[in-house]
Parts: sequence; C-alpha cells; structure tokens
Amino acid sequence: MDNAAGEVKIFDVVIIGAGPGGSTCALALRNAGLKVAIIDKAVFPRDKVCGELMHRKTVATLTRLVPEFESEFKAFAGTLIMKHTKVHYKKTVINFDWETESYTCPRLKLDDFLLSVVKKYSDTEIYTDTTPGKITVDEAGVTVTLKNDETIFQAKLIIGADGAQSTVAKQLAQKVMDKKHYLGAVRAYYKNVKDIKNDVSEVFFNSRYNLNYLWVFPVDGNLVNVGFGLLSNDISGKKINLKEAFYDYFKISPELADKFKDAEQVGPLEGFGVPLGSSVGITSGNSFMLLGDAASLSNPLSGTGMGNAILSGMLAGQHAAKCFAANNFSEEFMKEYDNTLQKEIINDLMASYKAQRILSKMPYMLDVVFWLSKFKRIKHYIQSHV
Ligand SMILES: Cc1cc2nc3c(=O)[nH]c(=O)nc-3n(C[C@H](O)[C@H](O)[C@H](O)COP(=O)(O)OP(=O)(O)OC[C@H]3O[C@@H](n4cnc5c(N)ncnc54)[C@H](O)[C@@H]3O)c2cc1C
Repeated sequence: MDNAAGEVKIFDVVIIGAGPGGSTCALALRNAGLKVAIIDKAVFPRDKVCGELMHRKTVATLTRLVPEFESEFKAFAGTLIMKHTKVHYKKTVINFDWETESYTCPRLKLDDFLLSVVKKYSDTEIYTDTTPGKITVDEAGVTVTLKNDETIFQAKLIIGADGAQSTVAKQLAQKVMDKKHYLGAVRAYYKNVKDIKNDVSEVFFNSRYNLNYLWVFPVDGNLVNVGFGLLSNDISGKKINLKEAFYDYFKISPELADKFKDAEQVGPLEGFGVPLGSSVGITSGNSFMLLGDAASLSNPLSGTGMGNAILSGMLAGQHAAKCFAANNFSEEFMKEYDNTLQKEIINDLMASYKAQRILSKMPYMLDVVFWLSKFKRIKHYIQSHV
C-alpha cells in the first residue's frame, strides 16, 4: 500500500467504538499482554440517545473484569439506584419491588466514566475524534485507514463495537438495515414532572401503540428521561411520524397528561435506531468480531441493549485473547465466539422475540399478563427473576 506520508501504527487488536461494548472489550483484554487500541469518531464526553437504564447484571459483568468497578460506579456522581418500577396500563398500576437493583446514568456521563475506567485500569491506547475510512483484511491481518488523516492502523484483529450504524459491520460483514428487526426510538429530558421518586422507574402502556411503552426514568440532575420506540417497519408501513407519536402518547394517556401538566422539556427530542436481536446475522469472520449494537444484540421485547453490549464486549475480549494464544484469526476459529454469543445471549433474545411475536399477534395477551401480575406469587416470581 502506498503510504509514504502517513504514520503506520501497529497493534494486536483494534477496537472501533468506545461505547459500553467497546470499553468493556478493552477491559476484558487488560491482562492479556496485548497491544490494544480503541478508536472512536466522537470527542468525549459525548451523548448517545438512550433510555439510560442499566440492569444490575451489567454492573456485575464489569465488576468481574475490574473488581473495583461496582463501588466506583455507585459512588460516581451521575448514578441513580433504581429499586422499584411502576407499570401503568388501562388506569391500573402495578408496583414491582425488585430484589436486584438497577441503575440510571446519563450516557453523556456514563460512557465518559467507562472510558476513564479503561484509561485507569488498562494500557489501551485511546484515539477519540478519529474516524475510520476503509477497512481491509488480508493474510497479514487488518488495515484501517482514517478519514481526513494519513495515519494507518494495522492489527491482527479488529473488533466492531461501533453501534447501530457500524462501519465495521457494513464493510466486513456486508450488513444492511432490516426494518423488520430495527426500532426507531426517541427520547427527551423533562424537569418538574409530578410524583417522581429517584429510585422508581415508570413505564406506561397504551393499546393504541401495540407492543410499545413510554418510559419515564429518573436521571441525575432532577430530570427524567422519557422515550418511546416503534418497529421501523411499522413506522414506514403505517407512515407514522415518531416524534408526533411521542407527543400524542401524552394526550391519549390521562395519567401521563396529569403527571406532565407542569413539566418542561429540557433540550430537544432526539431519535436513534436500535438493531434488534430478533435477526442477528453475521457476528464474526476472518480477523474480525462484532459486538453490541454492531452485532444487533438489543432485546426485541424491551429495546434495551447496554447489557448485551457489555456482555458481548467481555466475550469478544476473552475470545480475542484465545486467538492470540492459538495464533489463529481464521473465520473458522471465530465460530467459537459465535457459539458463545448464541449460548449466552442469542437464545434469550430468541425467547424475547417469541414473546414479542405472541403479543403482536394477540394484543389481548398484554391484558392477561397484567391480570396475572396482580397475583402475589406471580409478582414475586417476576420480582426475583428480572
Ligand atoms: C431511544 C433509545 C433508548 C434506549 N434505551 C435503553 C435503555 O434504557 N437501556 C439499555 O440497556 N439500552 C437502551 N438502548 C439501547 C442502547 O443505547 C444500545 O444498545 C447501546 O448503546 C449499545 O452499546 P454499543 O457499545 O454497542 O454501541 P454505542 O453505545 O452506540 O457506542 C458506539 C460507539 O461507536 C462510535 N462510533 C460509531 N460509528 C463509528 C465509526 N464509524 N467510527 C468510529 N467510531 C464510531 C460512537 O461514537 C460510539 O461511541 C436505547 C436505545 C435508544 C435509541
């Protein structure tokens, strides 16, 4: 390759994307004795449109990689601990008191915090404000050129952790968006919302928007994160304007209208895509692995994806270390990563997809689920298993 002017930086592993998945992958490699770079096009701190709710299991995964993580995360100014959820449906409310807590943290702060943990606990070289151009794989390994910069990165292995519009997935796995398995989602922050408790998340179902819920999650700064998503297929098929549908939700839900009557929106209503794990597709190949949203691992029922981004980040990091131990970066050797994803993540995603299909074809099943949740034993089962 003609690169007379550009510097060539040589690594063992190059991770593209410093979101929750990419940062976790760097942490999973911290003791592997490998030279690792993480490249992100954004300047941190940067925002990412999200509901910002994280399950306890997610924090547990990071704590397996860095034992100090849980205490540092809980002490971090930005984290709220969620212990209860109020579910609103057809003028009834079901209160869940969880046995395991979950957390909210604005992504502006969370992703910067995660990257600071990478800086503190690993030797990963971090390149932000750096956008990959062409990515090529040959027998020698991976070459990444940059947009607007002559520098070239070379590595044995590349990890695509670059989210819903992953350039790694497009270039190396020829991934294209499938509207049947993709959510369009929007969120806005509000202040002065009535009856908000800092440890209670709330969700509102409305039968007009089959299969969907509007979330109201308290976040740091006396704000609530409010959002809503719909399948992209429905958005285009039924010609729905997602932003209008969001504001419409307040009008058609009397309990929301009351709750938000003195509320003030802070900042714009913003949207982003969620690639759903109801159709995962290619997750690895010669010298590459995909994880998180780049691998379409968000839950088809809830739309959440941070947990699987973090879990797949750990699994990809662990498999990368195995590749170096075996000096094998072949497509065939990567199948072990695919199989682990299947076992640890995709089987659960498929179960959620089945539930999503049932609820979509038989919307009255939602009434049945609500009715059943009123029974103490069933509620207790849900509270201890979610
Ligand atoms: C409205 C909405 C609400 C959501 N709510 C929740 C929720 O409450 N809980 C939950 O768990 N999940 C939620 N999700 C899903 C969640 O946001 C994602 O699943 C999660 O962020 C995926 O993490 P990731 O690390 O794979 O990718 P991202 O978080 O998207 O990180 C990707 C990183 O790659 C960088 N990048 C992108 N393209 C390039 C490129 N070409 N070159 C270099 N760098 C690049 C980006 O700057 C970013 O830093 C929500 C999503 C949406 C849209």
